[in-house]
Order: sequence, then structure tokens, then C-alpha cells
Amino acid sequence: MTRLRILLDNGHGKETPGKRSPVWGDGTQLFEYEFNRDIVHRIARMLAHKGITFDIIVPGLADTPLSQRASLVNHICAVNGKANCLLVSVHANAGGGTGWEVWTSRGQTQADDYAEIFYRHAERAFPEWRMRSDTTDGDHDKEADFAILAKTACPAVLTENFFMDTEKDCRFIMSEAGRDRIARMHFDAILECVEHFEKATR
Ligand SMILES: [Zn+2]
Repeated sequence: MTRLRILLDNGHGKETPGKRSPVWGDGTQLFEYEFNRDIVHRIARMLAHKGITFDIIVPGLADTPLSQRASLVNHICAVNGKANCLLVSVHANAGGGTGWEVWTSRGQTQADDYAEIFYRHAERAFPEWRMRSDTTDGDHDKEADFAILAKTACPAVLTENFFMDTEKDCRFIMSEAGRDRIARMHFDAILECVEHFEKATR
């Protein structure tokens, strides 16, 4: 049986400018590359435990250019079949808002089904937080031609997990409890995506 292969992308590198929170009153600061990698590694541990095949697209701490990340993804897609892969790109948001959102490339694709699964899991996992959505096209994902979504062959979703420049959000994603909830939410969503894929390809 073909199983869905999960491609985990942790964007940005240690030296990427801008991708960090302000320094808070107590001297703490969040760096997005560290957050993204920590969440991806937590998800990876749970997937390994469950026997679900995955790849971590950027294993190091350096910033891998988007074009290179896309070609790494597309190489795996070429070997495994693009419909048999799901790319999950994990981020922290910025721009002074609050809450959680999920993005896909523009238009109706297989990614929209997966994004809807992620959205419903996030809604359940973060009941006290604002869910940010665009329902003008009939589903909850937001759509944009981010390179990691538009230049990759397989279905791809990108999660923006709270705002690193809003202190309440940032405290949540710096905390062990917050990170555990975010990683579990992604894991549970991925499990349902795997089931969805298996039903659709049976
Ligand atoms: Zn980011």
C-alpha cells in the first residue's frame, strides 16, 4: 500500500534577518528558525513513533534558499509521486496580529482538503485563541503564491503558529506547554491527512 509521505519544512536560518521577536522586558527573545525547527522535530518524533514516513527538508541551522528547498521537495516528489506526498511548512507569524492560520497556494487543489483538516484540528486544539481564516472561497485556508507552496509539486500547507511580535502570542510559543500543543495539533492533523489519503486512494 502506498502511504502518504510527509515532508516537513522548517523555514528560515539562524542568520535570516528580521525573523525574530522583539526583546521582551525580561530579556527573552524568540528566533523563528529555532521555533520552526523545534516544532518540526517534535512532529518528526511522533511520526517516527507512529511509523509514518517523513523527511525533514532542511536538516541544518542555515537558511536554505527557497528555490533550493523547492527543488529538494520536488526531487522527493519525483521519486515517490507528487500525489503521495504532503508538504507541511511550519512558521511563526509577524505583523502584529494574534492567533493561528493556514495557507495554501491559490486555486482549488488537493492541498485545500489537507488545509481544512489542519484548520479543524487547530480550532479544537486552541479554543482560547483567535482562528484567522478567509472563507470567501468556501474553506478556511488563506491562499498566496508563496514559493514553498506554489513552486512545489505536491500538495503543500503552511501553518502560521501565532505572532512572534505580539507578546501574549510569543510567550505561548516560547513555552513548553505551547510548543507541545502546537506539535500535537500538527501530528493529529497529519494522522487525519494520512487517513484521508488512504480512503481516497483505496
Ligand atoms: Zn516564517
